[in-house]
Amino acid sequence: MASITPPSADGKDALMDLDILVIGAGFGGCYALHQFRKLGYRVHVFEAGSYLGGVWHWNTYPGARVDSEMPYYQFSLPEIWRKWNWSERFPSGDELREYFKYVDKTLALSKDITYSATVNGAEFNEAVGTRTVTTEAGHQAICRRLICATGSSFKPHFPAFRHLDKFRGELVHSTRWTPDVDIRGKRVAIIGSGATAIQCTQEIAKQAEHLTVFIRTVSISLPMVQRPLDEMEQRIGKSTYKRMFRYCRDTASGLGYDQQLGSVHELSDEEREELWEELWSRGGFNFNQANYRDFLVDTKANNLMYQFWARKTRPRIKNPEKAAFLVPEKAPFAFRTKRSSLEQDYYERMDQDNVDIVNLATNPVQEFTEKGIICKDGQEQLFDMVVMATGFDAMTGSLTAMNIRGRDGLTFQERWKDGVFTHLGLCSSGCPNLFMIYGPQVDMVVDLLRKLDAEGIMSIEARRPAEEQWKQAIQDANDKTLLPLTDSWYMGANIPGKKREQLNYLGGIKQYEVEVRAALKTLEGFEVVTERGGKS
Ligand code: NAP
Repeated sequence: MASITPPSADGKDALMDLDILVIGAGFGGCYALHQFRKLGYRVHVFEAGSYLGGVWHWNTYPGARVDSEMPYYQFSLPEIWRKWNWSERFPSGDELREYFKYVDKTLALSKDITYSATVNGAEFNEAVGTRTVTTEAGHQAICRRLICATGSSFKPHFPAFRHLDKFRGELVHSTRWTPDVDIRGKRVAIIGSGATAIQCTQEIAKQAEHLTVFIRTVSISLPMVQRPLDEMEQRIGKSTYKRMFRYCRDTASGLGYDQQLGSVHELSDEEREELWEELWSRGGFNFNQANYRDFLVDTKANNLMYQFWARKTRPRIKNPEKAAFLVPEKAPFAFRTKRSSLEQDYYERMDQDNVDIVNLATNPVQEFTEKGIICKDGQEQLFDMVVMATGFDAMTGSLTAMNIRGRDGLTFQERWKDGVFTHLGLCSSGCPNLFMIYGPQVDMVVDLLRKLDAEGIMSIEARRPAEEQWKQAIQDANDKTLLPLTDSWYMGANIPGKKREQLNYLGGIKQYEVEVRAALKTLEGFEVVTERGGKS
């Protein structure tokens, strides 16, 4: 195996010759680095940020907090969880950043990560079957295999509002928040009502002199039910963590929620109310994840859930106009066809006198000015700061931005111009030995690479018919649900011009793993090149 020449401090003269290059040091990339390194592969990570943590490195906006609860949302490695205890059921971004420092120290990850290394190109050399990957800072690596652990939410979406560049106040996207941004005593605007905007709004409403929230579609947010976690409680719980993490992989969401089997219509009204009261009181994602799941396919079941949500939420808002807007009689979209957000006191904060709401559906933004925003009503609203909580070019945005070229010379931008094609969500035709991971796939790819090496397989590459089949299966499953009825980032519909299609596997983690492992065992749907030069 070839040697690694670490990059020089200024990033020049860097050349790494690797078995595996990983792009991204979030949860997935860190785990991949650790697992591949244990197997003796020469592996290195290029990370765009100045430290590891992925979304937790980038998202430092006020109120940032994970909404997947503990103990599920953490590395399942015993060497990590044994000595780490969380202070809250839903820890803050600050605590997650501390956690990543601890993970780094425990697993010594940083020695194999180059930071501030934003990948800006990868060329495939077919003669030798390697890729040369470059970064904006001038790093270079040659690798036999490329793992893209670039996450779902990296590339910010900036809506193209007219004259945005004229605004002379502070303009910040939620995911590019910096420590010097101070909201105290300011007139702040937030655009958005997704999970990020909910968290920002809760916090900024407390600190800003005045807050105006611009909302195109209201959120259907669920109560977080935050609570402190006791160290002793966690110490005791750890006796079953190994089993708990195994169990999580067998659930649809990866979180430890048992779903109800059958249909909610099998219950009487009283039984349903009793169950939903219980799920509601548990907080987190219990109300949708631990529920009957027919609400995703059945409009009547879906509407029952919305009405339950509305009955619980509306009384929290005293201002009648705000209540009517934030909790409309008719659901703004089918419940859960946009990702649910968790809130702590969002509705009380929106009710405050120093918080105004602009309904963008009836009063859309016309243009930005030097001092603020003018909507259709013609009034100029003045702001010191505008926060874009407008989301991400999700799932594909980071890959299409990197100029990774395949065997055929095409970038992902070009390859996916008419929609995303992958086999198993893992590999793309034209891109030998390139694997896309979003978390659960790491262990599967680790086993795959061991198999390839054991069997003398130089490279695998998705076949186009397999990609077409995979895509069709995802779209067919999607068409059986209410998801395609709503414009969401799941559907790529939040980005103007992006193909509208389901970007996620809908069968749940357990079924996904069954399907992927079956295909990787036989390598069905892949073109395989062996060391002897044979192709199959
Ligand atoms: P998002 O869910 O895509 O929400 C973006 C918001 O911006 C929406 O309210 C959207 O309105 C609005 N928007 C976008 N373009 C607009 C335009 N041109 N004019 C007016 N409004 C516009 O993005 P996000 O809130 O950043 O969340 C993205 C994902 O990140 C979440 O779904 C979640 O998976 C993850 N996340 C997780 C956490 C956590 O764990 N704590 C926190 C934050 C985010 P429309 O609805 O009308 O499109």
